[in-house]
Amino acid sequence: MIPYVTETPDITIPSNLLPGDGRFGSGPSKVRPAAVEALAAAAGGYLGTSHRQKTVKSVVGSLRAGLRQLFSLPDGYEVALGNGGTTCFWDAATFGLIDRRSQHLTFGEFSSKFASAAAEAPHLGHPEILASEVGTHPDPVAREDIDLYALTHNETSTGVMMPIVRPDGALAPTEGGGLVAVDATSGAGGLRVDPAQFDAYYFAPQKCFGSDGGLWVALLSPAAQDRIRAISATKRWVPASLDLSIALDNSKLDQTYNTPALATIFLFEDQVAWFNDHGGMDFSAGRCDTSSETLYTWADNSDFATPFVTREQDRSHVVGTVDLVDSVDAAVVAAILRANGIVDTEPYRKLGRNQLRIAMFPSVDPDDVASLCACINYVVGAIAG
Ligand SMILES: *Cc1c(COP(=O)(O)O)cnc(C)c1O
Repeated sequence: MIPYVTETPDITIPSNLLPGDGRFGSGPSKVRPAAVEALAAAAGGYLGTSHRQKTVKSVVGSLRAGLRQLFSLPDGYEVALGNGGTTCFWDAATFGLIDRRSQHLTFGEFSSKFASAAAEAPHLGHPEILASEVGTHPDPVAREDIDLYALTHNETSTGVMMPIVRPDGALAPTEGGGLVAVDATSGAGGLRVDPAQFDAYYFAPQKCFGSDGGLWVALLSPAAQDRIRAISATKRWVPASLDLSIALDNSKLDQTYNTPALATIFLFEDQVAWFNDHGGMDFSAGRCDTSSETLYTWADNSDFATPFVTREQDRSHVVGTVDLVDSVDAAVVAAILRANGIVDTEPYRKLGRNQLRIAMFPSVDPDDVASLCACINYVVGAIAG
């Protein structure tokens, strides 16, 4: 460790090494300048207009259709949306998607939060929690008394991704098996997924979708919609703003229950159209594949950096975590990068590791990830003197 550094060493990275865009944060994340320009151009007739009128509803409609196309949703699946981001969706699901008892795979900060919400709910049985060490992921286990399996596509706090597959041996939800609900907040749009393997795939637009926070979206299978309707028909009390049946009804009309952030919806729709116009998921996930290949190859070959996640297939293609050797203080490296306009490479605070965390969402240019690696090499060389 470099001891007791109180000031960031004054190191200027040569401009020819710098990435074109210095935003590598895991959320909010890089918003494409072209999307911001499109918003500015449309603003006069769009921002500040009613979300119940055609101008805004047509953008919501286009967003829902675009997501249907991007994820190749089968007939009968619905795209629902509401206010409050993923955290509010957890509360909504605790009220309106879990019938009696859920199983949660916890392997980091985000995957633990839905488990806590379910554990605290007085109307639910105590959830089953399957945990694994940070840097790994557990697998779901089919059980008769579980009616919802809570998975996380990408654990943003640790940089672990997991494949989305129904638990081995589980009955299909249409035959009485549990629903599969996936927190895909940081994975959706950057990692491939088969809709046949989930019932609710939910996310927020401030990560791969290069927009702002505050909105949730859920791709819902017919079985998930049936569950929402069935719970809604019971006497369980559900606050209206967290009622998934109300959200579903409004979504079908291309609107939200209460007023959404119109700029967020615009940028989100623009990003989905950008993906679809360039080849859909192969394009968006392909960019993440290229970026992550660059990052992990660099770390594997570096004498001061190593990928934090041991198993290669678990290393996230959207959020990379790289440990540095003890003699190089990652906080100092991140601070020097920040002083040079390269921001948000700090690790997830609570993980407490000597680490850099680098988002490689589709908006991030894969060439910029290569530039970032060169900049880190330069900074570490300069600190060493
Ligand atoms: C960012 C993130 C969240 C939190 O999303 P909010 O919209 O801020 O509630 C939840 N889960 C995962 C996996 C995330 O990456």
